[in-house]
Amino acid sequence: MIRTVTLIPGDGIGPEITDAARRVLDATGVALAWDVQQIGLPAIEQSGQPLPLSVLESVRTNGVALKGPVSTPVGRTGFRSVNAALRRDLDLFVQVRPCLGRPGPHAAVAGVDLLVIRDTTEDLYAGIELEAQSEAASEVIESVGRHDRGVIPPDAGLSIKFTTSQASRRVATFAFDYARRLERGKVTVVHKASVMRCTDGLFLEAAREVAGRNRDIGFDERLVDNLCGQLVRRSADYDVLVMPNMYGDLISDLAAGLIGGTGIAPGANYGPGVSLFEAAHGSAPRLAGTGRANPAGVILSAAMMLEHIGEWDAAARVISGVEAMLAEGMATYDLKPRRDDPTALGTQEFADGVIERM
Ligand code: NAD
Repeated sequence: MIRTVTLIPGDGIGPEITDAARRVLDATGVALAWDVQQIGLPAIEQSGQPLPLSVLESVRTNGVALKGPVSTPVGRTGFRSVNAALRRDLDLFVQVRPCLGRPGPHAAVAGVDLLVIRDTTEDLYAGIELEAQSEAASEVIESVGRHDRGVIPPDAGLSIKFTTSQASRRVATFAFDYARRLERGKVTVVHKASVMRCTDGLFLEAAREVAGRNRDIGFDERLVDNLCGQLVRRSADYDVLVMPNMYGDLISDLAAGLIGGTGIAPGANYGPGVSLFEAAHGSAPRLAGTGRANPAGVILSAAMMLEHIGEWDAAARVISGVEAMLAEGMATYDLKPRRDDPTALGTQEFADGVIERM
C-alpha cells in the first residue's frame, strides 16, 4: 500500500533539506507518495495566504506531514507565526524534541539522552497580545491597578500568558504515556511556579496529579532556571522533561546545543489523528541556496515519521545511516570545529552518504 505524506518544504533552507530527506526516505524502499504543500512566504506568493486551507485539509486527510522550517517576520509588522497557527488549527497540542548525543568528532556532550516535551497550545506563545496604548491594554492595566498591583505603566504593550488545567493534564498525560512506550524511567516537570503561581502553578499541579496516576514511572520537579544550569552540568541526570510552551522552545535549543547543535536535532508534533515532523531549527535565511545546510535534523525527523507509521526497520536503517556518517566525521560545516573546514560536506552529499550507509 502506498502511504501519502504531506510534504511542506517551507522557506529559507527548508526546500533543500526536505529534498534531501525525501531522497533518503525514497531510498528506503517504503512506498510513499508526496503531497507537496506550501505555507509561509511561498504560499503568500502563490495564493496571498500564509496558511491556505488546502494545507490543513491535506494534513488532516493524510494524517502525517514532513515539514521544513518557515520564517516568521520579527517585530510588530508582517504576518504572525504560521507554525503556531498550523499547530493550533490542527490541534497539534504537543511537541517532542529528542536530544541524543550521537558518537563522532562533533562536539556532543557524552551521555545526553533527553526527550523535551512541550505544550504548544497555551502560554505566552499563544499570541494573545495587546498593543501599547490600545483600549484593550488600557482596560487590563486599569483593572490590574485596581487590584493594587499597579506595576504596569499606562504605555506598556502586553503579551498574555495563560494556562489551563485541561491542557496541562493533556500534555503531562502524553509525557507519561510516551515515557512508558519508550521504556524511559523518569519524567521531570519544568516550571517557574514560585513566581507565576496562577499559570505555572496550575501546570505543576496538573503534572503532579497525572504523576500520581502513573507511579510506575519516576517523577520530579525543577524550576526552569535551575534546570538550565543542571542540563549544562549534569544532563545525564535527566530523562523526559515536560513543560509549558515557551520553556520548551528554549530548553530544546539548549539541549540541542549539548548534542552538537540544532542542525542534528529532530522533532515531532502530535495531535488527535495528525502528526507533523520537523527539525528543531529554523529557516536559516543566510544559508538558503548555499547547499551547505545540515539535513540531519530533518532526516532524523523523517525517521521518527517512519516509526510513527510502523516502518520500524526503515527508520532504524535511516538512523544508522546518519549515525555512521557522524561517527566517521562526515558532516556539514556546522558540526566542524571551524566553519570554513574544507572537509565539510554539502546538504545533498550528506544525504548521499546516508543513503550509501543505511
Ligand atoms: P535558525 O535555527 O534558523 O538559525 C540559527 C543558527 O543556526 C544560524 O546561524 C543558522 O545558520 C544555523 N542553522 C540553523 N539550521 C541549520 C542547519 N540545518 N544547518 C546548518 N546551520 C543551521 O534560527 P533563527 O535565525 O532564530 O530563525 C530564522 C527564521 O526561522 C525565523 O524567521 C524564525 O521565525 C524561523 N523559525 C522557524 C522554525 C520552524 O519552522 N519550526 C523554528 C525556529 C525558527
